[in-house]
Amino acid sequence: MNTAIFFERNIISAESLRSVLDVFPRCTCSHLPTPLEKMENLSKKLGVNLYIKRDDQTGLALGGNKARKLDFIMADALVQGCDSIITWAGLQSNWCRQTVAAARKVGIKPILILFNRPGLPAETDGNLFIDLLFDSEVKIVEMESGKNIMELGEVSSFIEEAAEEERRKGNKPYVAPIGGSMTEGSMTKPLGAISFVNAFLEMRRQAGERNINPDYVVLATGSGSTQAGLTVGAQLVTPQTKVVGISVSDEKTTMGICIETIVGQTFQELGAARAKASEKVTILDDYIAEGYGILNQETARAIRLVAETEGILLDPVYTGRAMVGLLDLIEKGYFEKDDNIVFWHTGGTPALFPYREKILDYLGKSGAAG
Ligand SMILES: *Cc1c(COP(=O)(O)O)cnc(C)c1O
Repeated sequence: MNTAIFFERNIISAESLRSVLDVFPRCTCSHLPTPLEKMENLSKKLGVNLYIKRDDQTGLALGGNKARKLDFIMADALVQGCDSIITWAGLQSNWCRQTVAAARKVGIKPILILFNRPGLPAETDGNLFIDLLFDSEVKIVEMESGKNIMELGEVSSFIEEAAEEERRKGNKPYVAPIGGSMTEGSMTKPLGAISFVNAFLEMRRQAGERNINPDYVVLATGSGSTQAGLTVGAQLVTPQTKVVGISVSDEKTTMGICIETIVGQTFQELGAARAKASEKVTILDDYIAEGYGILNQETARAIRLVAETEGILLDPVYTGRAMVGLLDLIEKGYFEKDDNIVFWHTGGTPALFPYREKILDYLGKSGAAG
């Protein structure tokens, strides 16, 4: 039973929100807090105030945003007495990599169902390589081209089959949703989003220490709970901070419905009155280009720009794409001159390796090493 605090207005103090969040059990899979840094060189070059929240540095098996979610989700699995975790995603999934590492850390067995889509890198490299290093049980399912994993009806039958097999062996599997986002399977609370309400507070505290007020948070959105959690955090504590999600997969109507659902569940779970209906989730779908995981030249160039100005690595699927969006928004004059913009680095860098040849091709550097 969670606290029954009811917020009469939207704005509550960070301390009261923190005490509400303290009720949720968690493991320490991630290294927190992650740094909030100014991107000095890129800010100068672009004429903006750009900060970066380094959730690529959460520590768990090369880091990423899923580590925060797993702090809560693994604790839930342990509270439920589970001895294995079953989850699913694409072959180069950052979610699956971090889930496997977290499972090993808390001592339960990781089981993955990975869907391989034609046209995306399928080597035993990057995230898949790491999944195998952790000796997780991996089942690979080949998909037909043009299908979206999230819409795949058969997913549930594959998951159910794997769960049944565990139960037959007398084990108790925890079935976790893709990305730790929607309340499905064994996860009955929006724990992924709740971890990002907490992350928003962490960022606010760091921003406060530097005397800055973030006007915008910009991030890559995939399964939606990172954006949902940051949105709830912002709406409760500092509604002047706008959270802008750059979709890397679905168009904004579909993605918007998904995030709105998680936002609603999160407000409810925290015992918080829903923010004003006019405060909609902001999701942009202008940068999906050829589709999820399909690299293009703009993304390769955005990765290089951040690397050469800041010495920071972005990834080819999420953060590189989100940076394409952010650069375009800056160019279009979306932000006011003095706005403080926080780019939330959600990780994903292990996927640089399976994409290396395509990235170098787009940058005109293939064959550079002879
Ligand atoms: C999963 C992921 C995201 C998206 O987070 P969601 O909560 O699924 O929207 C963004 N960036 C990276 C690197 C990720 O692995």
